[in-house]
Amino acid sequence: MGNTILLADADHQLVTMLKSLLSGRGYVPTHAESGREVLEQIGKESPSLVIVGEQLTDIDGIGLIIKIRKSYPDVKLAFISNEWREANLYQQLTKDFRVELIVHRPLKPSLFAAQIDSQLRHQQAIKQNSGSEQEEKTFLTLRSRFAEVLPTRLSLISDAIELATTNNTNKDLTAEARRLAHNLKGTASSCGFTLVGEAASHLERAIVQIQQDQYGDILEAWSEVMLLFEAVSHQAQIELENNIPTHAQLEKLADDSAMAKVLLVGSEFFSEGKEALQSGLPIKVIAASSAHDALDKATATTLDAVIIDMDSSPEESMNLARELRGMIGYESLPLAFIAKGAAPDDRIESTHAGASIFLDKPLNTSTLNKGIEYLLGVRGGGRHRVLVIDDDEDFSSIIAHALGKEGMLVKVLNDPTGVLQAMENFLPDLVLLDVMMPGISGFQVCKMLRETSRWQDVPILFLTAETELDARLAAFDAGGDDYLPKPVAPVELLTRVKVRLERARLLRDRADRDILSGLFLRRAFMEQLNALISESERYNLVFSLALLDVDHFKKVNDTYGHLAGDRVLAHLGQLLKRRFRVEDLRGRWGGEEFIVAFRHEAKETTIGALARVLEELRQTEFNGDHGEVFHVSFTAGMSSFPEDGRTIEDLVHVSDQRLYLGKECGRNRIIGNG
Ligand code: GH3
Ligand code: MG
Ligand code: MG
Repeated sequence: MGNTILLADADHQLVTMLKSLLSGRGYVPTHAESGREVLEQIGKESPSLVIVGEQLTDIDGIGLIIKIRKSYPDVKLAFISNEWREANLYQQLTKDFRVELIVHRPLKPSLFAAQIDSQLRHQQAIKQNSGSEQEEKTFLTLRSRFAEVLPTRLSLISDAIELATTNNTNKDLTAEARRLAHNLKGTASSCGFTLVGEAASHLERAIVQIQQDQYGDILEAWSEVMLLFEAVSHQAQIELENNIPTHAQLEKLADDSAMAKVLLVGSEFFSEGKEALQSGLPIKVIAASSAHDALDKATATTLDAVIIDMDSSPEESMNLARELRGMIGYESLPLAFIAKGAAPDDRIESTHAGASIFLDKPLNTSTLNKGIEYLLGVRGGGRHRVLVIDDDEDFSSIIAHALGKEGMLVKVLNDPTGVLQAMENFLPDLVLLDVMMPGISGFQVCKMLRETSRWQDVPILFLTAETELDARLAAFDAGGDDYLPKPVAPVELLTRVKVRLERARLLRDRADRDILSGLFLRRAFMEQLNALISESERYNLVFSLALLDVDHFKKVNDTYGHLAGDRVLAHLGQLLKRRFRVEDLRGRWGGEEFIVAFRHEAKETTIGALARVLEELRQTEFNGDHGEVFHVSFTAGMSSFPEDGRTIEDLVHVSDQRLYLGKECGRNRIIGNG
């Protein structure tokens, strides 16, 4: 399933430690202690990562890395070094032998696990593509798409100029002609039509002179504009002749990478490949006939949501949900079930398995669409989302396409007046914003977003044909993070967008997330809980809160070692993350205490779901630092809003009291009353 990690080292202690650490994070570690075995296993299992240690039985680690590279140019490598080596060696390892990660002993397990996670997640995000071949392909796509629409755009400009000439005192018509020329300038050059772009910039300048009343004779000024337009058309003809894409070329380039992919399992409702377009977010529905098929498809493509028809077998459906959420990169995959009215037992089970909603049968297009929209709106991890705001439809769809190829989910907004609604619905991680748009400037949009507390930190990049220094300064004044002049080279655009996204995610994670368990830290959790309380007050909804504490944890540390204790916490963190619905809140409350808030569900349902997690934890085998096997349990106290209180303080207090009560009565249980 692509999450096998091969441990190549003869040091048993290290291997045992790594094995339990990695399996606690959902990987499948395998092991080989001679170089010969390692090479064999890579061939057989194609692991997603090989972690090489210093010494194997027949070769040293560095020698093995060189050998691996000779036979397997693509396998991902990490190296665990016993000591700090000279710089040359590092250079050679990372550059020539493409070792992606070098760490030193003693290892800090939590940090090491986090590094492995981010390496493999990164790999998944870019698994379809990359490299210069990809860039070339992207650029070819841009050119051919633009070639298709250029004739229409020229006739639009021609019409606009004609209208403006015949009503030559009408400022609005002049402005529209300018806007079209301006957009053509930016888009043409970005798509490799340099001559057209240049000619369009002369055309724009001539129209601007008319706008600013800088002409001798108005009719002469307009005939100059016409001449310049002729020049644009002429250049277009020349460049089009060199750029006519063949049908086959276009066919090959067409792809769906910017689309949100929704997997529909076991339902006949939508046929394979059916596309639906909702509020500007293109969606592709992929069908799977069985659980097995679904898992295969989840490995082959990056899914954004899954809907499972559970009629044939509820149990199998729940298991599939759990399996999907167990795959690397899918711990926050939004899920829904289709069912003929859910039994109460199914509710508990499905909350545990992580279904956000039930869709009732018989299903129709509108309910299915609403369900999909809801699923795509709940945010966990998932793909980076980019909102492109630009009035030029061709340019924005071209950009969307280029970003989609890089694994991002893109929504295009051509009318900036809908920006707040679009932000709310799509929850972008980054905004690409054009400056000159009809009615409202990008600077205003940016300022307005920055004044909304919610959008204060979202990275905003301006993308514009205005190149004067003033415009650059205004962009930063308005609160923009970066500025990209049109024409924009696709490669540069992609690089800058990626860098911004990575930085934003890193900053957010560093401040908000606990590195060991991967869950929210107390402060970030409280913020979200506050929002949940207001939401529940406003709409008269319930929710429940569970406080968990690992039993006899001090003894675990004392008996099996502190590292073993860390592994327990990491495992429980992962378990809480992969169970329950994506929109439920999980946090590390402190030490060995965790906290979970279940949206829209009172404790009567969620107690059952949490009990299943307790059972799963108790079944889990942990290894001590010296290989001993042990088990753990937790005790939890639960409360419901508003039944047990209306404030965070009250709810936490009640949960805590019940937790204490549970400890008193012998631990290993969940208390919801008393
Ligand atoms: P009880 O069943 O009553 O909860 O007993 P307990 O031993 O779990 O409770 P106690 O609060 O006495 O001990 C908690 C221990 O958890 C003490 C502390 O050293 C340990 N601990 C806290 N944070 C971490 C951590 O990040 N890693 C490890 N390994 N141990 C931790
Ligand atoms: Mg405690
Ligand atoms: Mg404890």
